[in-house]
Amino acid sequence: MKLFAKLSLITSALIVFAWQSCGVSSNNGPVLTAKPAVIEDEQTYLAGIQKDSSKRMVSLTKYLQPLFKDFIYETEQNFTKKVLYTRPQAFLRIPAAEALQAVQDELKQQNLALKIFDAYRPYSVTVEMWKAVPDERYAANPAKGSGHNRGVAVDVTLVDLTTGKEVPMPTSFDDFSEKAHHNYMQLDAAIIANRSLLRKTMEKHGFIALETEWWHYYLSNPTRFELLDLSFDQLRSLEK
Ligand SMILES: [Zn+2]
Repeated sequence: MKLFAKLSLITSALIVFAWQSCGVSSNNGPVLTAKPAVIEDEQTYLAGIQKDSSKRMVSLTKYLQPLFKDFIYETEQNFTKKVLYTRPQAFLRIPAAEALQAVQDELKQQNLALKIFDAYRPYSVTVEMWKAVPDERYAANPAKGSGHNRGVAVDVTLVDLTTGKEVPMPTSFDDFSEKAHHNYMQLDAAIIANRSLLRKTMEKHGFIALETEWWHYYLSNPTRFELLDLSFDQLRSLEK
């Protein structure tokens, strides 16, 4: 090989190396490899909500009455088979909590209510989930974080207010099969109607559906809210 050819080969290799180090993937768009900016201390969080009061995290107990919830992440019965949450509580940013309240008010007219599987999720839990299942089909990549870490995503289903039981939906929560996709139609008409009612009502009040998970919804423009890594205990004490 001539010197020039060798040099150009080395240069190409260096360019590819630099490209990969930047975490720029050619087929999936930019993929960050560095840890993103995360608010990890109470002072920074408090300074943020002083500048912009819509960033305040609030407990859904004040917005949804009754509040049905089932945090499977505080048990081992979740996709990681590990306990991920300690003393969880449903928190969201104020605009998300208000939107969810409007959803529930409307559902109540049909004798239905929301049930929360997950709302705010500390960033460190997203890191734990990724360690267990490093696959973007099933877990959020910590390089990007999740709408749950930003306090604007929520995992919900519907319950019948008379019985307090969940209405039939296509799958259980965190079922990562095609059956959980919104476009999966090989289902009973009643199940499709329940899934559609949840979507229609959530979208009416500003939430966006995730096509691959019938239970997951988030507010538009989620990145205007920072990723947070405050514990549920910290948020509880800050709310007082
Ligand atoms: Zn979710």
